[in-house]
Order: sequence, then C-alpha cells, then structure tokens
Amino acid sequence: MHVIVVGAGPSGLILALLLAKAGIKTTLLDAASTLDDRPRAAHYGPSAIRVLREAGVLDDVRKDGLIPGNMTWRKIDGTPIASILDDPKERGPDGMTVLPLNMLGEILLKHAEKNENCTVKWNHPVVDIGQDSSSVWAVVRTSDGKTSKVFGDYLCGCDGANSQVRKSLFGNSFPGKTWDAQIIATNVYYDLKKFGFDDINNIIHHEDYYMAAIITNSGLWRVSYGEDPSLTPEQVIANQPIKYERMLPGNPKPGDYKLVSVGPYRIHQRCAEKFRVGRVLLAADAAHLVNPFGGLGLTGGIVDVGGLAECLVGLTKGLADESILDRYCEVRRQKWRDVIDVVSSGNFERVARRNPETALVDDEFLGMVKKMETDKELKKAFDESNYDVCHDFTQYYQKSKESKL
Ligand SMILES: Cc1cc2nc3c(=O)[nH]c(=O)nc-3n(C[C@H](O)[C@H](O)[C@H](O)COP(=O)(O)OP(=O)(O)OC[C@H]3O[C@@H](n4cnc5c(N)ncnc54)[C@H](O)[C@@H]3O)c2cc1C
Repeated sequence: MHVIVVGAGPSGLILALLLAKAGIKTTLLDAASTLDDRPRAAHYGPSAIRVLREAGVLDDVRKDGLIPGNMTWRKIDGTPIASILDDPKERGPDGMTVLPLNMLGEILLKHAEKNENCTVKWNHPVVDIGQDSSSVWAVVRTSDGKTSKVFGDYLCGCDGANSQVRKSLFGNSFPGKTWDAQIIATNVYYDLKKFGFDDINNIIHHEDYYMAAIITNSGLWRVSYGEDPSLTPEQVIANQPIKYERMLPGNPKPGDYKLVSVGPYRIHQRCAEKFRVGRVLLAADAAHLVNPFGGLGLTGGIVDVGGLAECLVGLTKGLADESILDRYCEVRRQKWRDVIDVVSSGNFERVARRNPETALVDDEFLGMVKKMETDKELKKAFDESNYDVCHDFTQYYQKSKESKL
C-alpha cells in the first residue's frame, strides 16, 4: 500500500511514522520549504502521549520536553481559585508532556527522514485531488508553474486549518463558528514562578484573560491572552507591552522581560461534514478546529491519526475491509462533537466569560477541581476521563484472520 499524506506538520508526520512501522510506504507532500515554526501547540495530553509512544518518538519528546506540575485558575491579581494538583508519585506513564511545536516537529522529521518507508517532499503544494475506483492522486504545482500528479492507494489530508484537501472535497464549507475574540500567543522569558505562579495558570478576567505556562526547561513561558478582535496585527503588536504591564504579575515593562515571538490567531470551533470520501481521509486541523485553551487541538489530531493508522494497517493486512474507514469518520467526528468541542469551549468560556468572584459556584468544572484538591478518588476519575477521546479501531479487525498472521 502507498499512502499520500498531504502536509508534513505534526499530524502528517506522526501518521507517516505509524504507517511506516507496519511497512506501509508514505509520501508526504508539503507546500512549505521547511517546518512551520509559529508559536502554537506546546501541551499534549495523555491520549496523545500514547500515540507518540506508539510512533516511537516519546523518549525523544520526553528528553527535550517537560512534564508540568500544578495547573491553577487564578484571579487577575494572582489569587488562586482552584488547582489540579500534580503528585509525581501518582503520575501514570502517559502524563501530559510539554514541548513547543517547532521542537516536536524537528523530532518527528528526524525520525521520518531516517525511515525508508517515509518520503518527505517540501515545496510540493497540493492544489487539487482526484480519485477513481483503483487509485487516488494529488495534483501538485511544480516550480515552473505547471502541475504534476502523485498517485497512491489512499490520500490523507493533514494539511491544517486551510486544508486544500478539505476544500477540494467540500469547497468552503467548514461547519461551526468563529469566536468573537482573538488570541495572542507570545513566547517570553519572564519568570512567573517568582510571583507564585504554577507550571500552568489560567487567569479569569472579562478583558485581560490569559493562560501562562512554562514550555521549556530553559525557562521560556507561553503567555496567550485575549485581545480586541477589531485590532490589526500591527495594533496587536503595539498594544502588547501595555497588555503585559497591565495583566502580568510585577507589571513588567519591556526591559523586564525578553519577548521571543508574538502570534495573533482568530479562534474557531469547526468540524468537517465528513472525514472520509472514498479514498480520501481528513485528520487533525484539516478535519476540525478548536480554540487553544486546554491544549485539545493537536491532542485530538494526534488521536485521530493514531486511529487512522489502525484502520489503514488493518486494511493492508487484510484484517478489515473498507467499512473500517467509515467507522473512522463516524467515531472521530462523534468524539470531536461530544468531547473535544464541549471541553475546549468550556475551557475558553471559563477564562473569558466567568466572574472570577463567583466562578467556583457558577462553573461546575471549577467546583469539581476545587473538590479534587482533597478528594483522591474524584481526581483519579478525572485523570481517567483524559482518555474519553480515544477509540480502539483494532476491535473491528476480523479476529479469525488476525490469529492466522
Ligand atoms: C496559539 C495556539 C496554541 C495552541 N496550543 C495547543 C496545545 O498546547 N496543544 C494542542 O494539542 N494544540 C494546540 N494548538 C493547536 C495546534 O497547534 C494545531 O492543532 C496543530 O498545529 C495542527 O497540526 P496539523 O498537523 O493538523 O496542521 P499544521 O500544523 O497546520 O500543519 C499543516 C501542514 O500542511 C502544510 N500544507 C498546508 N496546505 C498545504 C497544501 N495545499 N499542500 C501541501 N501542504 C500543505 C503546511 O505547510 C503544514 O506543514 C494551538 C494552536 C494555537 C493557534
């Protein structure tokens, strides 16, 4: 089997590594000349950690990354409201791991480049796709302005939020909503631990809400804050020192911190109407988008490609027929709708819309977090709910055939 993966971002690379383990050859086509290094994902939940282990990259990710301690919701003056307390002795093997996306990408690419089943082709923008009963193809624009076709048995669209694969299937239809907000993701050296902050902090405030988390062992912090959606990128950059001084503890002025990057993002909750059309599959941001609070975007995408790999491996080995791809579409859409969309929307509304003075009573989730500070059984149940997004597609393998392999 030969699988075309459109997009050599994190989801495409992880999918290729998972397929390669089963001897499936992949060609990754990416429009860019190299990895995307914008400040985006950094936190990967337990459900994604399992998949990273399966892909053979977790040791490297853990070597460069960190496992965070407490996560606390706070008022704008820093007063803690409730915390998910981390006990290193109670951590399971899949503990959330933190590593900036560009560093994760480098690890994934290194593994893909040394794997003979994976071929990564940069500067290969896919402009359309096509399929018939026996094959599928990507139409790639070449450097001389012409187009050429790359053929395969299946094609997986892992080409991100503006996915051409999705547009070739459904045009501009991407059902869902765009929040009336913009989030500014900044990377900064400013030691928030000095002010009693934990490894992950969510500040509840109607205007100056933000998330601050340590994201590297060298002390780099991610501060993602809400900003007036009518501001242009230039106005956002001009306003950043004012926002920092007003909202961060210590009211820092520009000389007090080292700003590394600033990235404005519009935020969405959207899900494609199908994740499968014939030989074409969608996964991760190409298939669905969520706001970044709670780190569920790529976590959900990584779980997608873990499931998609199980389906394609089952097909290759003759353990499943093509109906397993319909299961992929049905289950992953349902997990997005019932878990990822609900939880991530709640995470955003908690920081941006709740009254911090009454949040413990008004917000059921925060009330539970407060209770979990002393109730170990409740905390255990909460930890297990991290796997609600998972689904084992090998359960659809035909067991009689499996035992003969
Ligand atoms: C501020 C912010 C913070 C976030 N934090 C987290 C977090 O902590 N945890 C988390 O899980 N998620 C987080 N996310 C979400 C996460 O970054 C995305 O879900 C993730 O990057 C999506 O990965 P992907 O592989 O699907 O797409 P992308 O990373 O967008 O990669 C898509 C790839 O496809 C290529 N491509 C695009 N179009 C074409 C084409 N036509 N032809 C060929 N190639 C193409 C691109 O060049 C790119 O390499 C965050 C997002 C933001 C904005």
